[in-house]
Amino acid sequence: MTAPPAFDSLKTKLGEIHDLVKAAALMSWDQQTIMPPRGSESRAQQLGTIGKVAHETFISDEIGQLLDELRPFEESLDRDSFEASLIRVARRDFEKAIRVPPELFAEISREGSRTFGTWVEARANSDYERFRPRLERMVELKQRYVDCYPPPDDPYDTLLDDYEPGMKTSEVRVVFDRLKEALIPLVEAAGSAATPLVTGRFPAEKQRQLSLEIVRRFGFDETAWRLDTAPHPFAQSLGTTDIRITTREPESSLDGLFATMHECGHGLYENGVDPVLERTPLARGASLGLHESQSRLWENLVGRCRPFWSWFYPRLQEAFPRELGSIDEETWFRAINDVRPGLIRIEADEASYNLHIILRFELEQQIMAGLDLRELPDAWNEAMSRYLGIDVPDDARGVLQDVHWSRGGFGYFPTYSLGNVMSVQIWERLRADVDDVDDQISRGEFGAVREWLGEHVYRLGRKYLPAETLERVVGGSIDPEPYLRYLQGKLAVA
Ligand code: ZN
Repeated sequence: MTAPPAFDSLKTKLGEIHDLVKAAALMSWDQQTIMPPRGSESRAQQLGTIGKVAHETFISDEIGQLLDELRPFEESLDRDSFEASLIRVARRDFEKAIRVPPELFAEISREGSRTFGTWVEARANSDYERFRPRLERMVELKQRYVDCYPPPDDPYDTLLDDYEPGMKTSEVRVVFDRLKEALIPLVEAAGSAATPLVTGRFPAEKQRQLSLEIVRRFGFDETAWRLDTAPHPFAQSLGTTDIRITTREPESSLDGLFATMHECGHGLYENGVDPVLERTPLARGASLGLHESQSRLWENLVGRCRPFWSWFYPRLQEAFPRELGSIDEETWFRAINDVRPGLIRIEADEASYNLHIILRFELEQQIMAGLDLRELPDAWNEAMSRYLGIDVPDDARGVLQDVHWSRGGFGYFPTYSLGNVMSVQIWERLRADVDDVDDQISRGEFGAVREWLGEHVYRLGRKYLPAETLERVVGGSIDPEPYLRYLQGKLAVA
């Protein structure tokens, strides 16, 4: 059946909305990399306007009518086809978006800017009480947002769905309870045998050069990518052949290398989406969790494995002879895989990181269920002590450390750990299919790994919900056991 004119009209409209979304993405990239600080006021206006126009165009009666008109056509199609996938995904997005009054979206966004400003000051002064009234207001708005939808089994489902579409709170709870059971004792045991840190001064421009040497092997190429500096590293795509990744290189460590590999993983996913999906809402990763599975795969499963460093450690030593000349590869390997429970999520190692996430996932549910926010810092500190055995000295390094809640991003945190879990499921599948992965990595060759991921994961873009995407890749649903086996195996030998 040839596509009816309504399909072309829908595709054209969605293409225009996509252009607006990507123009906003470019402005946001600019804001976080090279914009002079005093540009922020006009940038907020510009982003607000573009976001509003894109949203209004999307929730218009015209899109609604086109989607209605296209029902018979959609039913006649193979569900895996581009056309059926585009209609299906657009319909799901549309049915979600029209439930929320545009005024509520605008209010959450305005309140988010204000609350963000207050959060910056409150964190600088470790003054939770200053932040609390704003947070209360934000929680109230998010409760109104949840009320726009038919009552789900769990009110948190609605929030989670914005980041991990289709995933239920109860499913996350099963995965996280298993992680908790295994990781609390593992982190506790590892914490008592901490290896010394590698210290020294590592000039940023040398780190940049090494990062580029690595990511070029991963698939970064100057004709379609850029690498810039940002205070909080992120990846952004303006198209499948315009990938912007960012990093930062504090000179007291080599963490910048891992930040770059992480963002490169996000970039490879966007870069690998089937070009047929370009300029549609399908031209990106399936969810934040799956995106994070790819950044963590390249950062941790590739970038922290033994074969990788048997390839690259001599090069690193050559670049920093004074700092690393007397540190052997084994010591370096232990240092970058050390488990060391700490206060700050973004500085956490691969294993204890998940406990930071589980703490936030549980508190978010309590917050949405009406926890008195005067009690939030105590609830936070109590959980830090129970999960990580750590006393929190002040709220700046406790409940105020993350930006997410100030922007209303409840439901976002779990995707980080879901990504960890899925990354190993995908990695195991890849290793079963690709011969000699370790040998290839130990020669600095990553083409076969990238191609397998491209073929099985990246190409699909956002055609399917994350659970279906994972099912297609690994032949099953989300399962924490491969991830736990990986961590336990690694930490037993590290
Ligand atoms: Zn990431």
